[in-house]
Amino acid sequence: MNKQLILVVEDDGAVRNLITTTLETQHYRFVTAATGQAAILEAVSHNPAIVLLDLGLPDMDGVEIIQKIRTWSTMPIIVISARSEDTDKIDALDAGADDYLTKPFSVEELLARIRVTQRRLAALQGIMPAQPITFENGDLKLDYAAGCAYLEGEELHLTPIEYKLLCLLAKNVGKVLTHTYITKEIWGSSWNNDVASLRVFMATLRKKLESRADSPQYIQTHVGVGYRMLKL
Ligand code: CA
Repeated sequence: MNKQLILVVEDDGAVRNLITTTLETQHYRFVTAATGQAAILEAVSHNPAIVLLDLGLPDMDGVEIIQKIRTWSTMPIIVISARSEDTDKIDALDAGADDYLTKPFSVEELLARIRVTQRRLAALQGIMPAQPITFENGDLKLDYAAGCAYLEGEELHLTPIEYKLLCLLAKNVGKVLTHTYITKEIWGSSWNNDVASLRVFMATLRKKLESRADSPQYIQTHVGVGYRMLKL
Protein backbone atom coordinates (compact mmCIF):
# COMPACT_ATOMS: atom_id res chain seq x y z
CA MET A 1 0.00 0.00 0.00
CA ASN A 2 1.47 3.33 -1.08
CA LYS A 3 0.62 5.88 1.55
CA GLN A 4 2.77 8.66 0.18
CA LEU A 5 1.09 11.95 -0.55
CA ILE A 6 1.52 13.37 -4.05
CA LEU A 7 0.73 16.93 -5.00
CA VAL A 8 -0.76 17.16 -8.50
CA VAL A 9 -0.49 20.62 -10.04
CA GLU A 10 -2.42 20.86 -13.31
CA ASP A 11 -4.92 23.44 -14.58
CA ASP A 12 -6.40 21.15 -17.26
CA GLY A 13 -9.23 19.25 -15.57
CA ALA A 14 -9.10 16.27 -17.93
CA VAL A 15 -5.36 15.75 -17.48
CA ARG A 16 -5.71 16.27 -13.72
CA ASN A 17 -8.39 13.57 -13.60
CA LEU A 18 -6.25 11.18 -15.64
CA ILE A 19 -3.37 11.67 -13.20
CA THR A 20 -5.42 11.36 -10.02
CA THR A 21 -7.28 8.30 -11.33
CA THR A 22 -3.93 6.68 -12.14
CA LEU A 23 -2.62 7.50 -8.65
CA GLU A 24 -5.79 6.07 -7.08
CA THR A 25 -5.28 2.72 -8.82
CA GLN A 26 -1.89 2.47 -7.08
CA HIS A 27 -3.29 3.65 -3.73
CA TYR A 28 -1.30 6.86 -3.62
CA ARG A 29 -2.83 9.66 -1.62
CA PHE A 30 -2.97 13.01 -3.40
CA VAL A 31 -3.94 16.64 -3.19
CA THR A 32 -4.50 18.80 -6.26
CA ALA A 33 -3.93 22.41 -7.28
CA ALA A 34 -5.02 24.17 -10.47
CA THR A 35 -2.98 27.36 -10.06
CA GLY A 36 0.54 28.29 -9.05
CA GLN A 37 -0.64 30.09 -5.93
CA ALA A 38 -2.65 27.05 -4.81
CA ALA A 39 0.33 24.79 -5.61
CA ILE A 40 2.65 26.71 -3.31
CA LEU A 41 0.03 26.77 -0.56
CA GLU A 42 -0.52 22.99 -0.82
CA ALA A 43 3.23 22.33 -0.92
CA VAL A 44 3.72 24.36 2.26
CA SER A 45 0.78 22.91 4.17
CA HIS A 46 1.07 19.22 3.14
CA ASN A 47 4.81 18.77 2.54
CA PRO A 48 4.10 16.14 -0.15
CA ALA A 49 6.46 13.25 -0.92
CA ILE A 50 6.43 14.15 -4.63
CA VAL A 51 5.12 17.08 -6.69
CA LEU A 52 3.82 16.49 -10.23
CA LEU A 53 4.00 19.92 -11.79
CA ASP A 54 2.48 21.20 -15.02
CA LEU A 55 4.70 24.00 -16.37
CA GLY A 56 1.96 26.02 -18.07
CA LEU A 57 -0.32 27.41 -15.38
CA PRO A 58 -2.69 30.38 -15.67
CA ASP A 59 -1.17 32.56 -12.97
CA MET A 60 2.49 31.58 -12.77
CA ASP A 61 5.21 29.85 -14.73
CA GLY A 62 6.06 26.37 -13.46
CA VAL A 63 9.77 27.23 -13.34
CA GLU A 64 8.94 30.05 -10.91
CA ILE A 65 7.10 27.57 -8.67
CA ILE A 66 10.15 25.28 -8.64
CA GLN A 67 12.37 28.20 -7.68
CA LYS A 68 10.02 29.18 -4.85
CA ILE A 69 9.74 25.62 -3.50
CA ARG A 70 13.53 25.19 -3.68
CA THR A 71 14.03 28.14 -1.32
CA TRP A 72 12.75 25.97 1.53
CA SER A 73 12.45 22.35 0.38
CA THR A 74 14.20 19.60 -1.60
CA MET A 75 10.91 17.71 -2.15
CA PRO A 76 11.10 15.79 -5.46
CA ILE A 77 9.45 17.62 -8.34
CA ILE A 78 8.54 15.87 -11.59
CA VAL A 79 7.69 18.36 -14.29
CA ILE A 80 4.89 17.52 -16.70
CA SER A 81 5.06 19.71 -19.74
CA ALA A 82 3.09 20.01 -22.94
CA ARG A 83 5.85 22.07 -24.44
CA SER A 84 8.14 20.04 -26.59
CA GLU A 85 10.93 22.62 -26.49
CA ASP A 86 13.97 21.33 -24.70
CA THR A 87 14.71 24.76 -23.23
CA ASP A 88 11.65 24.60 -20.96
CA LYS A 89 12.66 21.21 -19.63
CA ILE A 90 16.22 22.40 -19.16
CA ASP A 91 15.10 25.56 -17.33
CA ALA A 92 12.94 23.41 -15.06
CA LEU A 93 15.77 20.95 -14.37
CA ASP A 94 18.24 23.75 -13.76
CA ALA A 95 15.75 25.39 -11.37
CA GLY A 96 15.82 22.15 -9.36
CA ALA A 97 13.24 19.79 -10.86
CA ASP A 98 14.17 16.11 -10.50
CA ASP A 99 12.69 14.69 -13.67
CA TYR A 100 10.32 15.52 -16.50
CA LEU A 101 7.55 13.95 -18.50
CA THR A 102 6.36 15.30 -21.85
CA LYS A 103 2.66 15.35 -22.74
CA PRO A 104 1.07 13.25 -24.04
CA PHE A 105 2.35 10.55 -21.70
CA SER A 106 1.10 7.08 -20.85
CA VAL A 107 -0.02 6.23 -17.32
CA GLU A 108 2.66 3.51 -17.22
CA GLU A 109 5.27 6.15 -17.96
CA LEU A 110 3.93 8.38 -15.21
CA LEU A 111 3.99 5.58 -12.65
CA ALA A 112 7.49 4.56 -13.75
CA ARG A 113 8.77 8.11 -13.19
CA ILE A 114 7.19 8.21 -9.75
CA ARG A 115 8.85 4.88 -8.86
CA VAL A 116 12.25 6.11 -10.13
CA THR A 117 11.91 9.22 -7.99
CA GLN A 118 10.92 7.18 -4.94
CA ARG A 119 13.90 4.85 -5.44
CA ARG A 120 16.20 7.83 -5.79
CA LEU A 121 14.86 9.30 -2.58
CA ALA A 122 15.28 6.00 -0.75
CA ALA A 123 18.84 5.70 -2.07
CA LEU A 124 19.63 9.22 -0.93
CA GLN A 125 18.18 8.62 2.51
CA GLY A 126 20.29 5.48 2.75
CA ILE A 127 23.40 7.44 1.81
CA MET A 128 22.70 10.61 3.79
CA PRO A 129 23.42 9.60 7.43
CA ALA A 130 27.19 9.53 7.07
CA GLN A 131 29.60 10.80 4.43
CA PRO A 132 29.71 7.90 2.00
CA ILE A 133 33.14 6.45 1.39
CA THR A 134 31.97 4.06 -1.28
CA PHE A 135 29.13 3.97 -3.78
CA GLU A 136 27.69 0.79 -5.25
CA ASN A 137 25.24 0.45 -8.11
CA GLY A 138 24.90 -2.89 -9.88
CA ASP A 139 28.42 -4.07 -10.75
CA LEU A 140 29.83 -0.57 -10.40
CA LYS A 141 31.70 0.44 -7.26
CA LEU A 142 33.32 3.77 -6.46
CA ASP A 143 35.87 4.08 -3.68
CA TYR A 144 35.94 7.80 -2.97
CA ALA A 145 38.80 7.59 -0.48
CA ALA A 146 41.06 5.81 -2.96
CA GLY A 147 39.68 7.72 -5.95
CA CYS A 148 39.08 4.48 -7.82
CA ALA A 149 36.21 2.99 -9.77
CA TYR A 150 35.60 -0.73 -10.19
CA LEU A 151 33.38 -2.72 -12.52
CA GLU A 152 32.75 -6.33 -11.53
CA GLY A 153 35.72 -6.00 -9.18
CA GLU A 154 38.09 -4.87 -11.94
CA GLU A 155 39.57 -1.39 -11.65
CA LEU A 156 38.47 0.99 -14.40
CA HIS A 157 41.30 3.09 -15.78
CA LEU A 158 39.64 6.47 -15.96
CA THR A 159 41.08 9.89 -16.72
CA PRO A 160 40.53 12.53 -13.99
CA ILE A 161 37.63 14.08 -15.93
CA GLU A 162 35.99 10.71 -16.59
CA TYR A 163 36.26 9.89 -12.88
CA LYS A 164 34.81 13.28 -11.91
CA LEU A 165 31.94 12.76 -14.36
CA LEU A 166 31.22 9.32 -12.98
CA CYS A 167 31.22 10.62 -9.38
CA LEU A 168 28.89 13.47 -10.31
CA LEU A 169 26.42 11.10 -11.96
CA ALA A 170 26.68 8.69 -9.01
CA LYS A 171 26.06 11.45 -6.48
CA ASN A 172 22.86 12.27 -8.36
CA VAL A 173 21.88 8.71 -9.23
CA GLY A 174 18.34 8.57 -10.66
CA LYS A 175 18.29 12.26 -11.49
CA VAL A 176 18.54 13.85 -14.94
CA LEU A 177 21.47 16.29 -14.99
CA THR A 178 21.50 18.96 -17.69
CA HIS A 179 24.54 19.64 -19.90
CA THR A 180 24.89 23.06 -18.26
CA TYR A 181 24.83 21.61 -14.74
CA ILE A 182 27.39 18.95 -15.60
CA THR A 183 29.82 21.23 -17.43
CA LYS A 184 29.63 23.78 -14.58
CA GLU A 185 30.35 21.10 -11.98
CA ILE A 186 33.18 19.51 -13.96
CA TRP A 187 35.00 22.53 -15.33
CA GLY A 188 34.04 25.10 -12.69
CA SER A 189 35.63 28.51 -13.24
CA SER A 190 36.92 27.64 -16.69
CA TRP A 191 33.34 26.81 -17.67
CA ASN A 192 32.05 27.66 -21.14
CA ASN A 193 29.22 25.12 -21.54
CA ASP A 194 31.25 23.08 -24.00
CA VAL A 195 28.68 20.35 -24.70
CA ALA A 196 30.77 18.92 -27.55
CA SER A 197 33.66 18.21 -25.15
CA LEU A 198 31.26 16.77 -22.61
CA ARG A 199 29.96 14.36 -25.26
CA VAL A 200 33.49 13.21 -26.05
CA PHE A 201 34.32 12.56 -22.37
CA MET A 202 30.98 10.84 -21.88
CA ALA A 203 31.64 8.60 -24.88
CA THR A 204 35.07 7.52 -23.60
CA LEU A 205 33.67 6.97 -20.09
CA ARG A 206 30.87 4.83 -21.47
CA LYS A 207 33.28 2.79 -23.57
CA LYS A 208 34.98 1.78 -20.33
CA LEU A 209 31.82 1.41 -18.28
CA GLU A 210 29.17 -0.07 -20.52
CA SER A 211 29.54 -3.60 -21.83
CA ARG A 212 27.07 -2.88 -24.62
CA ALA A 213 27.33 0.55 -26.20
CA ASP A 214 24.00 0.16 -28.02
CA SER A 215 22.04 -0.45 -24.81
CA PRO A 216 23.75 1.45 -21.99
CA GLN A 217 22.98 0.07 -18.56
CA TYR A 218 24.33 2.80 -16.30
CA ILE A 219 24.21 6.11 -18.11
CA GLN A 220 21.10 7.18 -19.98
CA THR A 221 21.18 9.93 -22.61
CA HIS A 222 18.42 12.52 -22.66
CA VAL A 223 18.82 13.95 -26.14
CA GLY A 224 19.26 17.72 -26.09
CA VAL A 225 18.91 17.78 -22.30
CA GLY A 226 21.61 15.82 -20.47
CA TYR A 227 22.38 12.51 -18.77
CA ARG A 228 21.20 10.37 -15.89
CA MET A 229 22.77 7.46 -14.03
CA LEU A 230 20.14 4.78 -13.60
CA LYS A 231 19.69 3.15 -10.20
CA LEU A 232 20.13 -0.56 -10.87
CA1 CA B 1 -1.44 23.68 -18.30
